[in-house]
Amino acid sequence: MQNLDSNLKLFAVIGNPIKHSLSPLIHNAAITHYALNAYYGKILLPSNIDSKFLREFVFSSNICGLNITLPFKEVVINALDSIDTLAAKIGAVNTLVRHNDTLMGYNTDAYGFYKCIEDFMESNFMESKRARNVLLLGAGGSAKSIAVILANHNINFCIANRSAAKLAYFKDFGECITFDKIDSKWVENNAFDIIVNATSSSIQGILPLDSVILESLFKNAHLAFDLMYQKQGLTPFCELAKSCNVPTLDGKNMLVYQAAYSFIYFHSNYANISSDNIINIISVMNGALGI
Ligand code: NDP
Repeated sequence: MQNLDSNLKLFAVIGNPIKHSLSPLIHNAAITHYALNAYYGKILLPSNIDSKFLREFVFSSNICGLNITLPFKEVVINALDSIDTLAAKIGAVNTLVRHNDTLMGYNTDAYGFYKCIEDFMESNFMESKRARNVLLLGAGGSAKSIAVILANHNINFCIANRSAAKLAYFKDFGECITFDKIDSKWVENNAFDIIVNATSSSIQGILPLDSVILESLFKNAHLAFDLMYQKQGLTPFCELAKSCNVPTLDGKNMLVYQAAYSFIYFHSNYANISSDNIINIISVMNGALGI
């Protein structure tokens, strides 16, 4: 067996489950494109590991950077030496970068989400090129990162969730409402440009809300964005939006955009990669996914 090149930079995504992850495909496509001496893999870790285990794992495996997916986005925080402000505010880290003996954490889900809608608004929105009012369905981890980034950009939004319990985190961001309170009167009084499905309903193959209510919400919308994606075809949420002539984005778009920001954090340490390359990185990663 050949020895591994000692200069090879190792990166990976950790999660449980992890088999389905497309991150290695898109990161390795960009690594090849920029001719970097690096490799990106996927690692399944037991779901009950703690932050001490994670820290030792990074140093003992000589890894230069990690993407972190479910269920480790919160536990990883205590494994870090420092965390950037946005990730700390969200309370979740999806990108870890090792600088010699220190570990730094970032959240690129939030940047990825915002860049996705910003690019969409730039080419598809009318006059203002800007969303005036967003409806965020769901109140889990990904909804938190979306809420923080929308608030940072002064975009108004309302958060709606099935259960009341998870809405507590969002009370300072805008109106919070449970799904059972959304009726035709409420829909009439609220016009949303963008409707985001940040629930996990699409994993279950169902709509997050009653189809009649969703159809009436789609009447004023310029974009329906489902954070989830399917290997083939549209999610039920995007399918319904399309039938109402509303343009759609899905989780593949967000996957690429968050990965492109992580890619910059990973490789700018040792190669000539910076945020100036973001458009090209996105294009290479989109190409790897055929989108
Ligand atoms: P969480 O488990 O933290 O939250 C799930 C949310 O979905 C909760 O608000 C829950 O409501 C709601 N929910 C679950 N089932 C239903 C249902 N049948 N109908 C209506 N609401 C429901 O998940 P995450 O926030 O981490 O992830 C949400 C989605 O976003 C997932 O599909 C995930 O795959 C996707 N995602 C995609 C990313 C990407 O890069 N493309 C990145 C991150 C996430 P309740 O409080 O009532 O339980």
